[in-house]
Amino acid sequence: MSRISFNRKRAKLKHLLGIRARLALLALILVAPLMLERARSLEGTRAKEIALASSEFSNLAKHSADAQSEMISSVETMLKAAAYIRASAGGIGRSCDIMRASVPVNLPWIRSLSIVSGDGRVQCSTLNVLVGLDFSDRAWFKKAQETREFVFSDFLFAKSNNEPIVVAAYPVSAIDHGADATIVATLHLDWMSKIMGNLGGRSGVSAVLVDSTGTVLAAPPDQASMIGRSLDNMPLLSAIAEKAVGSEQAEGSLSFVGADGSKRAVNFVRIAGTESRLIVSIDEAKVSAAINREIRTAYLQLCFVCLFVLLGALVAAETLIIQPIRMMAAMAKRFGQGDWSARVASRRLASEFVPLARAFNAMAAQLGQRERELIATNDRLTVIASIDMLSGLANRRGFQSRLDFEWMKAQQYPCELSLLMIDVDHFKMFNDTYGHPEGDVCLSRLGETLSGIAAETMGFAGRYGGEEFCLLLPNTDSARAVEIGEMVREAVSGLAMPHCTSSYEIVTVSVGVACTRPNDTLRPGDLIEAADAALYAAKHRGRNAVVEHGMVRVTDGVVALAS
Ligand code: GH3
Ligand code: MG
Ligand code: MG
Repeated sequence: MSRISFNRKRAKLKHLLGIRARLALLALILVAPLMLERARSLEGTRAKEIALASSEFSNLAKHSADAQSEMISSVETMLKAAAYIRASAGGIGRSCDIMRASVPVNLPWIRSLSIVSGDGRVQCSTLNVLVGLDFSDRAWFKKAQETREFVFSDFLFAKSNNEPIVVAAYPVSAIDHGADATIVATLHLDWMSKIMGNLGGRSGVSAVLVDSTGTVLAAPPDQASMIGRSLDNMPLLSAIAEKAVGSEQAEGSLSFVGADGSKRAVNFVRIAGTESRLIVSIDEAKVSAAINREIRTAYLQLCFVCLFVLLGALVAAETLIIQPIRMMAAMAKRFGQGDWSARVASRRLASEFVPLARAFNAMAAQLGQRERELIATNDRLTVIASIDMLSGLANRRGFQSRLDFEWMKAQQYPCELSLLMIDVDHFKMFNDTYGHPEGDVCLSRLGETLSGIAAETMGFAGRYGGEEFCLLLPNTDSARAVEIGEMVREAVSGLAMPHCTSSYEIVTVSVGVACTRPNDTLRPGDLIEAADAALYAAKHRGRNAVVEHGMVRVTDGVVALAS
């Protein structure tokens, strides 16, 4: 891997792990254990709820089986009572009368009560249509005769009307050995179904009461279509028929996968005193569907909480960290651009950033103060650099910038601008005679004199170089300029500074005067040249003189002529 691509990848990773990403990661790390704990508890709840539902159905099955047992035991009691009547009443006619009169109305599940003779013929019955029917071929009858015990039959169709019924039989011989009659009760299957009502109406739950062959005797109202059918013919229950029905156990449970792929848990309870069994089967997926729905909602809430935490972390990162950094970066940028008035508003910052903001503001204030001092020093230096220390007047540089300024002004409000060039006559000889220091004193006095005249005439005096001075006269025409030139010459003569080697015996000056109306075609240098030319002419005139210069504009330039 090349170094460049490695560096690029590193930069990319750095970008990805920005403050926002880091805070989001931190928030996730903090939330993750809580999330895992919540998920674990949700999964635990799911398992518990399913177990609870399973045990609830198992209890329901038991209660239902107990109810069936109670019903059958009430039938057994009834049959035993009838058997006593038969054994003690004597003749069949009297027995029948007593039996009919004693059938209680509070046992509505008993369809009929009959006395059957030893050869299987119904001798008398609470249902007249049964009288005369032959039950000798019925298995339950034979079993009652053989065992001399209470017998509860499997699923049957009534001989009288082909209705589905079950039969309970009790041989009188169980009480009186010599007797051969059997007391027989037929039972309504719908009453047995009614008892199972509490097991119905639940999604994923099927409950049936089956006989010893696996034929459904009773079922809750919503599963009534199963009554009379064999478990073997029911796709969902056939798999358990053998185990549940064939089992010798009084009760048990097993789980299996149905033909439709559903995982089912089965509870079966034997009804005491019979071969019947109550079978309750639960489709775990359907039972747990509601629980799963709740768990899903809880997971969804968990996701929302995570999302909320993440968003919160991002917003917090943005407002508490990124924005303050951005704000301070913007301030630093403004400082860089020289705006020292910029200040970071520490009120809007998190407390951790306040010291930094204060340091920033203090730095800005100090730098601003230093810049002001620097500007003042610079201004002082600029002034110093523009002043001639000997004469106290502006030096050439100062004069030049003032000339540019006055030139521009005169051009803006069209008016005249005049310039006097003033040169000390025979100054070399003055130095030679009186010495250089005395020459300096002379130049200094001339400076004072010129300064006074400048103040008087609203002009600007400067030392152009050596023993040469200049006086700039804004808004002054040539006639007035010549007058002022004369004023200068006279003032210098008036000083009466001795100059024995000059023909005038005092220090004198020659003055060149130039006047112009500045415009685009002229330059300030032209005015200087013109004044210089006039000065030159004044020297030629014999010095201690004032000469005015006239300027003529021609097509290919400016020509200066001394007048
Ligand atoms: P002219 O009348 O033609 O002007 O003759 P001049 O002697 O004045 O002119 P020149 O240019 O020959 O000499 C100027 C002299 O001015 C030479 C120089 O020593 C003197 N000078 C220039 N600057 C200073 C200064 O600052 N102090 C003193 N003492 N002398 C100066
Ligand atoms: Mg001179
Ligand atoms: Mg000179």
